[in-house]
Amino acid sequence: MMNQILVTGGSGFIGSNFIRYLLNEDRDCCVVNLDALTYAGNPMSLSDCEDNKGYTFVHGDILDRGLLERLFDKYAFTGVIHFAAESHVDRSILGPEAFIDTNIKGTFNLLDVAYRHWKKNSGFVRFHHISTDEVYGSLGETGAFTETTPYDPSSPYSASKASSDHLVKAYSRTYGFPAVITNCSNNYGPYQFPEKLIPLMILNIMEEKSLPVYGKGDNIRDWLYVEDHCSAIWKVFCDGRDGETYNVGGGAERKNIEIVHLLCDLVDQKLGRNGGSSSRNLIKYVKDRPGHDFRYAIDAVKLKNELGWEPAFTFEEALKGTVDWYLANMDWVNNVRSGAYREWLNTNYGGR
Ligand code: NAD
Repeated sequence: MMNQILVTGGSGFIGSNFIRYLLNEDRDCCVVNLDALTYAGNPMSLSDCEDNKGYTFVHGDILDRGLLERLFDKYAFTGVIHFAAESHVDRSILGPEAFIDTNIKGTFNLLDVAYRHWKKNSGFVRFHHISTDEVYGSLGETGAFTETTPYDPSSPYSASKASSDHLVKAYSRTYGFPAVITNCSNNYGPYQFPEKLIPLMILNIMEEKSLPVYGKGDNIRDWLYVEDHCSAIWKVFCDGRDGETYNVGGGAERKNIEIVHLLCDLVDQKLGRNGGSSSRNLIKYVKDRPGHDFRYAIDAVKLKNELGWEPAFTFEEALKGTVDWYLANMDWVNNVRSGAYREWLNTNYGGR
């Protein structure tokens, strides 16, 4: 039977890559993308999919329960893959409320409507919740998060994601609702909004602007290429076990400052600046983020042993590809950053 999948937040970074991943290969899917088009959502990220007959875009909010009910009635979804979220830690520190609304209340709405639909409709197979390794808190110099690591979130963002994870687990345990969760590490790749570390640095290096680095840049993250993340999600959605959590990692731990150094060298090289002074001179250390977790690392052995998933890309090749993508797609970047994008959004979608 053809999968009829509701993807939420499909106009954001990971969601748009995932929809392209589903539609570009013959994965026997129709996709409805429900997205509120916040500042982070950009329909341009899927402009190449708009003519695909398996793709439908719905401009709407997961906080709108009536809309969710109408969509489930209309499309008889067989699965939900839930990306929609407020996703930027710094923004959650400045204004947590939107994170509580979308990440907790919005996830609850979606979960509850999907659960009621499942009870009525034997064709519904799975609810897949996309989450983060940040729910586990911070690691010291050694060790890695496993699926049984206790939750210990530090920021309003990670606390809201932890809360949504617990709701999904509760629906699975209490009602037997078929749900899975994946908790992944930091993603990078094409179409990431340029407030996040890697695209922000690439663009600032290009434009010879200062490169703000928190503290001494010693914080460590595991980096996961977005296309590897997409293949992991699809693997878990198709073959994972109900009620389970799977950690997804790229096996590429790096200090933030190492990433910035690498990007300086890659962009300088790409722009033929090797003879001049290094962009590393643009690095500016800024006051550390409050509650900044020191280190995240993922143990993805469950995903490997149970489902045979491993990342296909090395960090170096995928980072280079990401730099190339940004330099070749300045139209997308300029649109995302400009007032023109806001205007276009308002005219076409009444975006918020
Ligand atoms: P993003 O911020 O790029 O995209 C989020 C999308 O959700 C946007 O298109 C936005 O318009 C949409 N959205 C926001 N609020 C909405 C609402 N109320 N109703 C409908 N749509 C709404 O985020 P991303 O980086 O693509 O992350 C996707 C998911 O993956 C999130 O759940 C995030 O917590 C998780 N995650 C991301 C990373 C990462 O490194 N980016 C790491 C771990 C987990």
